[in-house]
Amino acid sequence: MSELLLGVDVGTSSVKALACDSSGRIVATCSAAHPIHQPHAGWSEQNPEDWWTSSVSAIRGVLSDPKCDGSRVIAVGLSGQMHGSVFLPAGSETPIRPALLWNDQRTAEQCRSIEQAFGGRRAMVSMVGNAALTGFTLPKIIWLREREPENFAKVATVLLPKDYVRLKLDGRRATDVGDASGTLLFDIEARRWSRAALSRVGLDPAILPDVVESGEVTGRVTPAAAAETGLPAGTPVIAGSGDNQAGAVGAGIVRSGLVLATIGTSGVMYAHSDSPRRDLQSTTSDRQEGPEPVGRLHTMCAANGSRGIPGQYSLTGCMLSAGGSLQWCRDSLFPGESFEALMAEAEQVRPGCDGLVFLPYLTGERCPYPDPQARGGWIGLTSRHTRGHLVRAVIEGVTFGMGQILDLVRGLGVEVESVRLGGGGARSALWRQLQADVYRCRVATMDTEEGPAFGAALLAGVGAGVFPNVAEACRTAVHESGIIDPRDSSAYDGARQVYGSLYTDLGPRFAALHGMDQS
Ligand code: ADP
Repeated sequence: MSELLLGVDVGTSSVKALACDSSGRIVATCSAAHPIHQPHAGWSEQNPEDWWTSSVSAIRGVLSDPKCDGSRVIAVGLSGQMHGSVFLPAGSETPIRPALLWNDQRTAEQCRSIEQAFGGRRAMVSMVGNAALTGFTLPKIIWLREREPENFAKVATVLLPKDYVRLKLDGRRATDVGDASGTLLFDIEARRWSRAALSRVGLDPAILPDVVESGEVTGRVTPAAAAETGLPAGTPVIAGSGDNQAGAVGAGIVRSGLVLATIGTSGVMYAHSDSPRRDLQSTTSDRQEGPEPVGRLHTMCAANGSRGIPGQYSLTGCMLSAGGSLQWCRDSLFPGESFEALMAEAEQVRPGCDGLVFLPYLTGERCPYPDPQARGGWIGLTSRHTRGHLVRAVIEGVTFGMGQILDLVRGLGVEVESVRLGGGGARSALWRQLQADVYRCRVATMDTEEGPAFGAALLAGVGAGVFPNVAEACRTAVHESGIIDPRDSSAYDGARQVYGSLYTDLGPRFAALHGMDQS
Protein backbone atom coordinates (compact mmCIF):
# COMPACT_ATOMS: atom_id res chain seq x y z
CA MET A 1 0.00 0.00 0.00
CA SER A 2 1.62 3.26 -1.03
CA GLU A 3 1.77 6.53 0.86
CA LEU A 4 -0.89 9.20 0.31
CA LEU A 5 -0.59 12.98 0.05
CA LEU A 6 -3.51 15.19 1.04
CA GLY A 7 -4.23 18.60 -0.52
CA VAL A 8 -6.82 20.92 1.03
CA ASP A 9 -8.02 23.98 -0.93
CA VAL A 10 -10.00 26.55 1.07
CA GLY A 11 -12.12 28.09 -1.71
CA THR A 12 -14.74 30.81 -1.59
CA SER A 13 -17.72 28.51 -2.04
CA SER A 14 -16.28 25.29 -0.60
CA VAL A 15 -13.29 23.45 0.76
CA LYS A 16 -11.99 20.75 -1.54
CA ALA A 17 -9.81 17.93 -0.20
CA LEU A 18 -7.94 15.51 -2.45
CA ALA A 19 -5.68 12.52 -1.84
CA CYS A 20 -3.16 11.32 -4.39
CA ASP A 21 -0.42 8.71 -4.33
CA SER A 22 3.26 9.40 -4.84
CA SER A 23 2.91 9.15 -8.63
CA GLY A 24 0.26 11.88 -8.56
CA ARG A 25 -2.63 9.51 -9.27
CA ILE A 26 -5.75 10.91 -7.64
CA VAL A 27 -7.32 8.44 -5.24
CA ALA A 28 -10.22 10.37 -3.69
CA THR A 29 -11.72 13.87 -3.58
CA CYS A 30 -14.45 15.48 -1.48
CA SER A 31 -15.90 19.00 -1.22
CA ALA A 32 -17.85 20.68 1.55
CA ALA A 33 -19.63 24.02 1.02
CA HIS A 34 -19.69 27.04 3.31
CA PRO A 35 -21.75 30.24 3.20
CA ILE A 36 -20.66 33.73 2.12
CA HIS A 37 -22.19 36.81 3.75
CA GLN A 38 -22.87 40.20 2.18
CA PRO A 39 -24.01 42.39 5.08
CA HIS A 40 -23.85 45.56 2.88
CA ALA A 41 -23.59 46.21 -0.87
CA GLY A 42 -20.00 45.49 -1.97
CA TRP A 43 -19.08 43.72 1.29
CA SER A 44 -18.07 40.08 1.22
CA GLU A 45 -17.31 38.17 4.41
CA GLN A 46 -16.95 34.63 5.72
CA ASN A 47 -16.67 33.15 9.15
CA PRO A 48 -13.23 31.45 9.40
CA GLU A 49 -14.74 28.85 11.73
CA ASP A 50 -16.95 27.78 8.79
CA TRP A 51 -13.76 27.09 6.77
CA TRP A 52 -12.60 24.78 9.54
CA THR A 53 -15.97 23.02 9.70
CA SER A 54 -15.92 22.39 5.94
CA SER A 55 -12.23 21.39 6.03
CA VAL A 56 -13.06 18.77 8.66
CA SER A 57 -15.95 17.38 6.55
CA ALA A 58 -13.97 17.40 3.31
CA ILE A 59 -10.97 15.67 4.94
CA ARG A 60 -13.25 13.14 6.64
CA GLY A 61 -15.01 12.60 3.30
CA VAL A 62 -11.71 11.74 1.59
CA LEU A 63 -10.55 9.51 4.44
CA SER A 64 -13.85 7.59 4.42
CA ASP A 65 -13.38 6.65 0.76
CA PRO A 66 -12.72 2.88 0.65
CA LYS A 67 -9.65 3.51 -1.56
CA CYS A 68 -8.15 5.89 0.98
CA ASP A 69 -6.95 4.72 4.38
CA GLY A 70 -6.12 7.63 6.73
CA SER A 71 -3.10 5.88 8.22
CA ARG A 72 -1.43 6.05 4.78
CA VAL A 73 -1.57 9.88 4.70
CA ILE A 74 1.99 11.12 5.24
CA ALA A 75 1.55 14.88 4.73
CA VAL A 76 -1.10 17.61 4.28
CA GLY A 77 -0.61 20.67 2.06
CA LEU A 78 -2.82 23.76 2.02
CA SER A 79 -4.08 26.12 -0.65
CA GLY A 80 -6.80 28.74 -0.58
CA GLN A 81 -8.53 31.89 -1.73
CA MET A 82 -5.98 34.69 -1.53
CA HIS A 83 -5.94 38.19 0.01
CA GLY A 84 -8.62 37.63 2.68
CA SER A 85 -8.00 38.88 6.21
CA VAL A 86 -8.57 36.86 9.38
CA PHE A 87 -8.19 39.05 12.47
CA LEU A 88 -7.05 37.06 15.51
CA PRO A 89 -6.54 38.11 19.14
CA ALA A 90 -3.59 36.90 21.23
CA GLY A 91 -3.85 33.44 22.73
CA SER A 92 -7.12 32.40 21.08
CA GLU A 93 -8.21 30.80 17.82
CA THR A 94 -11.53 32.66 17.81
CA PRO A 95 -11.45 35.48 15.23
CA ILE A 96 -12.31 39.00 16.37
CA ARG A 97 -14.82 39.49 13.53
CA PRO A 98 -15.72 37.76 10.22
CA ALA A 99 -12.95 37.74 7.60
CA LEU A 100 -13.06 40.22 4.69
CA LEU A 101 -12.61 38.35 1.39
CA TRP A 102 -10.73 38.89 -1.89
CA ASN A 103 -13.91 40.11 -3.61
CA ASP A 104 -14.87 42.66 -0.94
CA GLN A 105 -15.11 46.16 -2.44
CA ARG A 106 -15.41 48.39 0.64
CA THR A 107 -11.84 49.71 0.66
CA ALA A 108 -11.61 52.06 -2.38
CA GLU A 109 -10.85 55.03 -0.09
CA GLN A 110 -8.17 53.11 1.82
CA CYS A 111 -6.53 52.08 -1.48
CA ARG A 112 -6.16 55.74 -2.47
CA SER A 113 -4.62 56.69 0.88
CA ILE A 114 -2.28 53.67 0.82
CA GLU A 115 -0.93 54.57 -2.64
CA GLN A 116 -0.36 58.12 -1.38
CA ALA A 117 1.49 56.82 1.69
CA PHE A 118 3.76 54.77 -0.59
CA GLY A 119 4.47 57.83 -2.78
CA GLY A 120 2.17 56.89 -5.67
CA ARG A 121 1.26 53.77 -7.63
CA ARG A 122 4.61 53.46 -9.40
CA ALA A 123 6.51 53.61 -6.08
CA MET A 124 4.15 51.05 -4.62
CA VAL A 125 4.62 48.59 -7.51
CA SER A 126 8.40 49.05 -7.15
CA MET A 127 8.27 48.30 -3.42
CA VAL A 128 5.74 45.46 -3.14
CA GLY A 129 5.20 44.32 -6.74
CA ASN A 130 1.54 45.36 -6.87
CA ALA A 131 -0.78 48.35 -6.90
CA ALA A 132 -3.39 48.87 -4.14
CA LEU A 133 -6.55 47.02 -5.16
CA THR A 134 -9.65 46.70 -3.01
CA GLY A 135 -9.29 42.92 -2.94
CA PHE A 136 -5.82 42.86 -1.35
CA THR A 137 -5.15 42.43 2.40
CA LEU A 138 -3.51 45.70 3.45
CA PRO A 139 -6.52 47.92 2.58
CA LYS A 140 -8.66 45.63 4.77
CA ILE A 141 -6.30 46.08 7.75
CA ILE A 142 -6.36 49.87 7.29
CA TRP A 143 -10.17 49.76 6.98
CA LEU A 144 -10.38 47.94 10.32
CA ARG A 145 -8.07 50.48 11.95
CA GLU A 146 -10.19 53.38 10.66
CA ARG A 147 -13.71 51.98 10.92
CA GLU A 148 -13.59 49.49 13.79
CA PRO A 149 -10.79 50.79 16.06
CA GLU A 150 -12.10 48.79 19.01
CA ASN A 151 -11.59 45.57 16.99
CA PHE A 152 -8.25 46.72 15.59
CA ALA A 153 -6.97 47.27 19.14
CA LYS A 154 -7.51 43.56 19.85
CA VAL A 155 -5.62 42.26 16.75
CA ALA A 156 -2.53 40.20 17.57
CA THR A 157 -2.19 38.47 14.15
CA VAL A 158 -3.61 38.88 10.65
CA LEU A 159 -3.83 35.54 8.83
CA LEU A 160 -4.73 34.59 5.26
CA PRO A 161 -7.67 32.18 4.80
CA LYS A 162 -5.81 28.88 4.31
CA ASP A 163 -3.54 29.78 7.22
CA TYR A 164 -6.49 29.86 9.61
CA VAL A 165 -7.04 26.19 8.70
CA ARG A 166 -3.31 25.62 9.32
CA LEU A 167 -3.62 27.20 12.78
CA LYS A 168 -6.43 24.74 13.56
CA LEU A 169 -4.35 21.83 12.20
CA ASP A 170 -0.90 22.46 13.66
CA GLY A 171 -1.34 25.40 16.06
CA ARG A 172 1.12 27.66 14.24
CA ARG A 173 0.54 31.20 12.91
CA ALA A 174 2.39 30.95 9.58
CA THR A 175 2.00 31.56 5.86
CA ASP A 176 3.94 31.02 2.62
CA VAL A 177 5.72 33.44 0.30
CA GLY A 178 3.05 33.21 -2.45
CA ASP A 179 0.07 34.07 -0.29
CA ALA A 180 2.15 36.71 1.55
CA SER A 181 2.76 38.39 -1.84
CA GLY A 182 -0.95 39.22 -2.05
CA THR A 183 -0.97 41.33 1.13
CA LEU A 184 0.89 44.43 -0.25
CA LEU A 185 3.24 44.11 2.76
CA PHE A 186 5.74 41.65 1.29
CA ASP A 187 9.17 42.24 -0.21
CA ILE A 188 8.78 39.91 -3.19
CA GLU A 189 12.44 40.05 -4.15
CA ALA A 190 13.83 39.29 -0.65
CA ARG A 191 10.97 36.87 0.14
CA ARG A 192 10.26 38.38 3.57
CA TRP A 193 7.90 40.96 5.10
CA SER A 194 8.71 44.48 3.94
CA ARG A 195 9.66 46.67 6.92
CA ALA A 196 9.61 49.65 4.54
CA ALA A 197 6.00 48.96 3.51
CA LEU A 198 4.92 48.39 7.11
CA SER A 199 6.44 51.67 8.23
CA ARG A 200 4.76 53.61 5.35
CA VAL A 201 1.38 52.65 6.77
CA GLY A 202 2.39 52.61 10.44
CA LEU A 203 1.75 48.93 11.15
CA ASP A 204 3.58 46.80 13.71
CA PRO A 205 5.47 43.90 12.03
CA ALA A 206 4.42 41.70 14.97
CA ILE A 207 0.88 41.36 13.54
CA LEU A 208 2.20 39.30 10.61
CA PRO A 209 2.74 35.52 10.80
CA ASP A 210 5.98 33.60 10.16
CA VAL A 211 6.61 33.14 6.44
CA VAL A 212 8.24 30.14 4.73
CA GLU A 213 8.63 28.68 1.22
CA SER A 214 5.59 26.77 -0.07
CA GLY A 215 7.15 23.29 0.14
CA GLU A 216 8.25 23.69 3.80
CA VAL A 217 6.77 22.01 6.86
CA THR A 218 5.08 24.47 9.25
CA GLY A 219 4.08 22.00 11.99
CA ARG A 220 2.34 18.71 12.78
CA VAL A 221 -1.30 17.77 13.18
CA THR A 222 -2.17 18.25 16.86
CA PRO A 223 -4.00 15.56 18.86
CA ALA A 224 -7.10 17.81 18.95
CA ALA A 225 -7.05 18.28 15.15
CA ALA A 226 -6.41 14.55 14.71
CA ALA A 227 -9.50 13.74 16.76
CA GLU A 228 -11.62 16.08 14.64
CA THR A 229 -10.31 15.22 11.17
CA GLY A 230 -9.32 11.56 11.47
CA LEU A 231 -5.76 12.37 10.31
CA PRO A 232 -2.95 10.70 12.26
CA ALA A 233 -1.62 13.02 15.00
CA GLY A 234 1.87 14.21 14.12
CA THR A 235 1.26 14.24 10.34
CA PRO A 236 3.41 17.06 8.86
CA VAL A 237 1.50 20.13 7.65
CA ILE A 238 3.10 21.81 4.62
CA ALA A 239 2.86 25.54 3.87
CA GLY A 240 1.28 25.27 0.40
CA SER A 241 0.22 28.54 -1.26
CA GLY A 242 -2.52 30.83 -2.53
CA ASP A 243 -4.86 29.21 -5.05
CA ASN A 244 -3.28 30.78 -8.16
CA GLN A 245 0.22 29.69 -7.16
CA ALA A 246 -0.82 26.23 -5.95
CA GLY A 247 -2.93 25.82 -9.13
CA ALA A 248 0.18 26.63 -11.16
CA VAL A 249 2.08 23.84 -9.37
CA GLY A 250 -0.87 21.51 -10.08
CA ALA A 251 -0.50 22.38 -13.78
CA GLY A 252 3.30 22.08 -13.73
CA ILE A 253 3.93 25.82 -14.33
CA VAL A 254 7.19 25.91 -12.38
CA ARG A 255 9.76 27.09 -14.91
CA SER A 256 10.24 30.04 -17.23
CA GLY A 257 8.56 29.66 -20.60
CA LEU A 258 5.43 28.04 -19.19
CA VAL A 259 2.15 29.91 -18.80
CA LEU A 260 -1.28 28.84 -17.55
CA ALA A 261 -4.32 30.42 -19.23
CA THR A 262 -7.51 29.68 -17.33
CA ILE A 263 -10.86 30.64 -18.84
CA GLY A 264 -13.42 30.10 -16.09
CA THR A 265 -15.96 32.74 -15.12
CA SER A 266 -13.01 35.14 -15.01
CA GLY A 267 -9.83 34.70 -17.05
CA VAL A 268 -6.41 34.38 -15.45
CA MET A 269 -3.08 34.40 -17.26
CA TYR A 270 -0.34 33.11 -14.94
CA ALA A 271 3.28 33.14 -16.11
CA HIS A 272 6.28 31.72 -14.27
CA SER A 273 9.27 34.05 -14.22
CA ASP A 274 12.85 33.44 -13.10
CA SER A 275 13.14 37.00 -11.75
CA PRO A 276 10.75 39.43 -10.01
CA ARG A 277 9.71 41.43 -13.08
CA ARG A 278 7.38 44.33 -12.29
CA ASP A 279 4.76 45.90 -14.55
CA LEU A 280 6.26 49.40 -14.58
CA GLN A 281 6.42 50.07 -18.31
CA SER A 282 3.55 51.99 -19.79
CA THR A 283 3.38 52.00 -23.58
CA THR A 284 2.05 54.70 -25.87
CA SER A 285 -1.15 52.77 -26.59
CA ASP A 286 -1.91 52.84 -22.85
CA ARG A 287 -2.61 56.57 -22.83
CA GLN A 288 -5.93 57.14 -21.12
CA GLU A 289 -7.57 59.06 -18.31
CA GLY A 290 -7.05 57.94 -14.71
CA PRO A 291 -4.12 56.49 -12.82
CA GLU A 292 -0.91 55.58 -14.60
CA PRO A 293 -1.26 52.11 -16.15
CA VAL A 294 1.38 50.34 -14.09
CA GLY A 295 0.76 47.31 -11.89
CA ARG A 296 -1.79 45.77 -14.26
CA LEU A 297 0.09 42.51 -13.86
CA HIS A 298 0.66 41.26 -10.32
CA THR A 299 4.20 40.25 -9.38
CA MET A 300 4.31 37.57 -6.72
CA CYS A 301 6.50 34.79 -5.35
CA ALA A 302 5.89 31.45 -7.04
CA ALA A 303 5.27 28.31 -4.99
CA ASN A 304 8.23 26.36 -6.40
CA GLY A 305 10.45 26.81 -3.34
CA SER A 306 11.05 24.38 -0.49
CA ARG A 307 13.33 24.07 2.53
CA GLY A 308 16.73 25.48 1.57
CA ILE A 309 15.62 26.05 -2.06
CA PRO A 310 14.21 29.56 -2.65
CA GLY A 311 11.45 29.60 -5.24
CA GLN A 312 11.05 32.01 -8.14
CA TYR A 313 8.32 34.42 -9.26
CA SER A 314 5.03 34.77 -11.08
CA LEU A 315 3.23 37.36 -13.16
CA THR A 316 -0.54 37.24 -13.26
CA GLY A 317 -3.22 39.26 -15.01
CA CYS A 318 -6.94 38.80 -14.54
CA MET A 319 -9.80 39.69 -16.88
CA LEU A 320 -13.07 39.80 -15.00
CA SER A 321 -15.58 38.40 -17.47
CA ALA A 322 -14.07 35.65 -19.66
CA GLY A 323 -16.19 32.48 -19.65
CA GLY A 324 -18.66 34.73 -17.81
CA SER A 325 -19.24 36.62 -21.09
CA LEU A 326 -20.16 33.43 -22.95
CA GLN A 327 -22.33 32.34 -20.05
CA TRP A 328 -24.17 35.70 -20.09
CA CYS A 329 -24.57 35.49 -23.89
CA ARG A 330 -26.06 32.00 -23.67
CA ASP A 331 -28.31 32.66 -20.68
CA SER A 332 -29.73 35.94 -21.99
CA LEU A 333 -29.90 35.31 -25.73
CA PHE A 334 -29.93 31.52 -26.24
CA PRO A 335 -31.43 30.05 -23.05
CA GLY A 336 -31.55 26.28 -22.99
CA GLU A 337 -28.76 25.88 -25.60
CA SER A 338 -25.67 23.89 -24.64
CA PHE A 339 -22.22 25.45 -24.94
CA GLU A 340 -21.40 22.65 -27.41
CA ALA A 341 -24.30 23.67 -29.70
CA LEU A 342 -23.23 27.32 -29.58
CA MET A 343 -19.62 26.38 -30.40
CA ALA A 344 -20.88 24.38 -33.41
CA GLU A 345 -22.69 27.48 -34.71
CA ALA A 346 -19.63 29.66 -34.07
CA GLU A 347 -17.48 27.21 -36.02
CA GLN A 348 -19.46 27.97 -39.19
CA VAL A 349 -18.29 31.60 -39.08
CA ARG A 350 -14.98 32.78 -40.57
CA PRO A 351 -12.15 33.92 -38.23
CA GLY A 352 -12.53 37.65 -37.62
CA CYS A 353 -16.34 37.34 -37.66
CA ASP A 354 -16.85 39.35 -40.86
CA GLY A 355 -16.12 42.61 -39.09
CA LEU A 356 -17.90 42.00 -35.79
CA VAL A 357 -15.98 42.61 -32.53
CA PHE A 358 -17.12 41.94 -28.95
CA LEU A 359 -15.82 43.80 -25.89
CA PRO A 360 -16.07 41.55 -22.81
CA TYR A 361 -16.13 44.23 -20.09
CA LEU A 362 -19.49 43.07 -18.70
CA THR A 363 -18.45 43.48 -15.06
CA GLY A 364 -15.91 46.28 -15.61
CA GLU A 365 -12.31 45.26 -16.27
CA ARG A 366 -9.11 44.68 -14.33
CA CYS A 367 -6.35 43.80 -16.83
CA PRO A 368 -5.18 45.27 -19.15
CA TYR A 369 -7.62 48.13 -18.37
CA PRO A 370 -8.12 48.67 -14.63
CA ASP A 371 -11.57 50.29 -14.98
CA PRO A 372 -14.62 49.21 -12.93
CA GLN A 373 -16.83 51.38 -15.17
CA ALA A 374 -15.82 49.74 -18.48
CA ARG A 375 -18.75 48.28 -20.42
CA GLY A 376 -19.14 45.54 -22.98
CA GLY A 377 -20.82 45.29 -26.36
CA TRP A 378 -20.73 44.11 -29.95
CA ILE A 379 -19.31 46.70 -32.34
CA GLY A 380 -19.80 46.42 -36.09
CA LEU A 381 -23.15 44.61 -36.33
CA THR A 382 -24.79 44.42 -39.74
CA SER A 383 -28.01 42.71 -40.84
CA ARG A 384 -25.91 39.90 -42.37
CA HIS A 385 -24.57 38.76 -39.00
CA THR A 386 -26.05 35.56 -37.51
CA ARG A 387 -26.26 33.94 -34.09
CA GLY A 388 -23.01 32.14 -34.87
CA HIS A 389 -21.33 35.52 -35.47
CA LEU A 390 -22.54 36.82 -32.09
CA VAL A 391 -21.17 33.77 -30.29
CA ARG A 392 -17.91 33.61 -32.19
CA ALA A 393 -17.30 37.32 -31.60
CA VAL A 394 -17.70 36.69 -27.85
CA ILE A 395 -15.06 33.97 -27.69
CA GLU A 396 -12.77 35.92 -30.03
CA GLY A 397 -13.12 39.07 -27.88
CA VAL A 398 -12.37 37.16 -24.66
CA THR A 399 -9.34 35.53 -26.31
CA PHE A 400 -8.07 38.87 -27.66
CA GLY A 401 -8.27 40.20 -24.07
CA MET A 402 -6.35 37.20 -22.72
CA GLY A 403 -3.85 37.69 -25.58
CA GLN A 404 -3.34 41.33 -24.52
CA ILE A 405 -2.40 40.11 -21.02
CA LEU A 406 0.02 37.59 -22.53
CA ASP A 407 1.55 40.41 -24.58
CA LEU A 408 2.08 42.44 -21.38
CA VAL A 409 3.90 39.40 -19.96
CA ARG A 410 6.04 39.13 -23.10
CA GLY A 411 6.65 42.89 -22.91
CA LEU A 412 8.37 42.32 -19.54
CA GLY A 413 10.88 40.02 -21.22
CA VAL A 414 9.32 36.61 -20.51
CA GLU A 415 9.80 34.23 -23.47
CA VAL A 416 6.62 32.19 -23.81
CA GLU A 417 7.25 28.64 -24.98
CA SER A 418 3.96 26.94 -24.19
CA VAL A 419 0.58 27.91 -22.73
CA ARG A 420 -1.31 25.26 -20.78
CA LEU A 421 -5.08 25.66 -20.82
CA GLY A 422 -7.48 25.40 -17.90
CA GLY A 423 -11.09 26.22 -16.98
CA GLY A 424 -14.33 25.55 -18.87
CA GLY A 425 -13.08 27.37 -22.00
CA ALA A 426 -10.54 24.57 -22.56
CA ARG A 427 -13.41 22.10 -23.07
CA SER A 428 -14.08 23.42 -26.60
CA ALA A 429 -11.81 22.38 -29.49
CA LEU A 430 -12.70 25.61 -31.32
CA TRP A 431 -11.70 27.74 -28.31
CA ARG A 432 -8.47 25.76 -27.81
CA GLN A 433 -7.41 26.37 -31.42
CA LEU A 434 -8.45 30.02 -31.19
CA GLN A 435 -6.22 30.39 -28.12
CA ALA A 436 -3.24 28.83 -29.95
CA ASP A 437 -3.78 31.16 -32.92
CA VAL A 438 -4.28 34.35 -30.90
CA TYR A 439 -1.52 33.62 -28.35
CA ARG A 440 0.75 32.77 -31.32
CA CYS A 441 2.21 29.75 -29.58
CA ARG A 442 1.68 26.09 -28.84
CA VAL A 443 -1.05 25.39 -26.29
CA ALA A 444 -1.60 22.21 -24.30
CA THR A 445 -4.37 20.57 -22.32
CA MET A 446 -3.63 18.74 -19.08
CA ASP A 447 -4.60 15.26 -17.94
CA THR A 448 -5.88 16.50 -14.59
CA GLU A 449 -8.05 19.53 -13.90
CA GLU A 450 -7.85 19.37 -10.12
CA GLY A 451 -5.89 22.64 -9.85
CA PRO A 452 -5.01 24.13 -6.46
CA ALA A 453 -5.88 21.10 -4.27
CA PHE A 454 -3.65 18.93 -6.49
CA GLY A 455 -0.84 21.51 -6.31
CA ALA A 456 -1.19 21.56 -2.51
CA ALA A 457 -0.92 17.74 -2.41
CA LEU A 458 2.25 17.86 -4.56
CA LEU A 459 3.73 20.50 -2.25
CA ALA A 460 2.88 18.19 0.67
CA GLY A 461 4.93 15.52 -1.12
CA VAL A 462 7.89 17.90 -1.39
CA GLY A 463 7.65 18.80 2.32
CA ALA A 464 7.48 15.13 3.28
CA GLY A 465 10.53 14.26 1.15
CA VAL A 466 8.63 12.12 -1.39
CA PHE A 467 9.96 14.45 -4.12
CA PRO A 468 13.35 16.22 -3.85
CA ASN A 469 11.90 19.53 -5.09
CA VAL A 470 8.81 21.06 -6.70
CA ALA A 471 10.09 20.71 -10.28
CA GLU A 472 10.60 16.98 -9.77
CA ALA A 473 7.13 16.62 -8.20
CA CYS A 474 5.63 18.21 -11.33
CA ARG A 475 7.76 16.08 -13.68
CA THR A 476 6.47 12.96 -11.93
CA ALA A 477 2.82 13.87 -11.50
CA VAL A 478 1.72 16.43 -14.13
CA HIS A 479 1.26 15.47 -17.78
CA GLU A 480 0.03 17.19 -20.92
CA SER A 481 -2.81 15.33 -22.63
CA GLY A 482 -3.00 17.20 -25.94
CA ILE A 483 -1.00 19.74 -27.90
CA ILE A 484 -2.35 22.28 -30.39
CA ASP A 485 0.00 24.22 -32.63
CA PRO A 486 -0.87 27.74 -33.77
CA ARG A 487 -2.08 28.19 -37.35
CA ASP A 488 -1.65 31.24 -39.54
CA SER A 489 -3.50 33.87 -37.54
CA SER A 490 -3.49 36.72 -40.06
CA ALA A 491 -7.27 36.39 -40.43
CA TYR A 492 -7.56 37.80 -36.90
CA ASP A 493 -5.20 40.74 -37.43
CA GLY A 494 -7.85 43.29 -38.41
CA ALA A 495 -10.26 42.35 -35.63
CA ARG A 496 -7.48 42.30 -33.04
CA GLN A 497 -6.30 45.72 -34.06
CA VAL A 498 -9.79 47.21 -33.81
CA TYR A 499 -10.32 45.42 -30.47
CA GLY A 500 -7.07 46.89 -29.15
CA SER A 501 -8.11 50.46 -29.89
CA LEU A 502 -11.79 50.32 -28.90
CA TYR A 503 -11.25 50.67 -25.15
CA THR A 504 -9.16 53.82 -25.66
CA ASP A 505 -11.78 55.22 -28.07
CA LEU A 506 -14.76 54.40 -25.88
CA GLY A 507 -13.42 54.85 -22.31
CA PRO A 508 -15.01 58.30 -21.76
CA ARG A 509 -18.37 57.06 -23.14
CA PHE A 510 -18.29 54.15 -20.67
CA ALA A 511 -18.01 56.62 -17.79
CA ALA A 512 -21.02 58.56 -19.14
CA LEU A 513 -23.07 55.38 -19.54
CA HIS A 514 -22.10 54.30 -16.05
CA GLY A 515 -23.46 57.61 -14.73
CA MET A 516 -26.85 56.88 -16.33
CA ASP A 517 -27.11 53.41 -14.83
CA GLN A 518 -29.90 53.34 -12.23
CA SER A 519 -29.72 49.61 -11.53
P1 ADP B 1 -15.78 28.60 -12.75
O1 ADP B 1 -14.86 29.76 -12.96
O2 ADP B 1 -17.16 29.08 -12.38
O3 ADP B 1 -15.23 27.50 -11.92
P2 ADP B 1 -15.45 26.87 -15.14
O4 ADP B 1 -13.96 26.80 -15.13
O5 ADP B 1 -16.21 25.61 -14.99
O6 ADP B 1 -16.05 27.98 -14.18
O7 ADP B 1 -15.85 27.54 -16.54
C1 ADP B 1 -17.17 27.82 -16.86
C2 ADP B 1 -17.20 28.58 -18.17
O8 ADP B 1 -16.52 27.82 -19.16
C3 ADP B 1 -18.60 28.78 -18.70
O9 ADP B 1 -19.17 29.98 -18.24
C4 ADP B 1 -18.38 28.82 -20.22
O10 ADP B 1 -18.08 30.14 -20.60
C5 ADP B 1 -17.14 27.97 -20.43
N1 ADP B 1 -17.48 26.61 -20.92
C6 ADP B 1 -17.88 25.56 -20.20
N2 ADP B 1 -18.09 24.48 -21.02
C7 ADP B 1 -17.81 24.88 -22.26
C8 ADP B 1 -17.83 24.26 -23.55
N3 ADP B 1 -18.18 22.99 -23.72
N4 ADP B 1 -17.47 25.01 -24.62
C9 ADP B 1 -17.10 26.30 -24.47
N5 ADP B 1 -17.07 26.93 -23.28
C10 ADP B 1 -17.42 26.24 -22.20
